[in-house]
Amino acid sequence: MNNEPKPINDDLKQALADLRARQKSGEHMPCPRCGRDTMLPKLYANALSRHADGIFVCPDCGNAESVLQFMNSPLPIEEWAVFNDRRHRDDFKDTPGEQAWAQI
Ligand SMILES: [Zn+2]
Repeated sequence: MNNEPKPINDDLKQALADLRARQKSGEHMPCPRCGRDTMLPKLYANALSRHADGIFVCPDCGNAESVLQFMNSPLPIEEWAVFNDRRHRDDFKDTPGEQAWAQI
């Protein structure tokens, strides 16, 4: 088991920057980490990700991140829902959370 964090590539950096901008603009979207519609309406009431700089995740994911970090096995950002549903990614915000989760 290799727990070394992989370097973040430029595509991912760009995608994270876009995500950060969309969150800051107040766009309501599913949690980028789990893909469920679990984000609280107030962005700053959610959890700031420990792994993606400036990105907010839902409170459940905030808890999961702290537990996984404690166990030294964080979920790689590449495996976040928002980066693993490419077919539906562009219309992600139009998909109800539960449905989006079922498609993953
Ligand atoms: Zn989440």
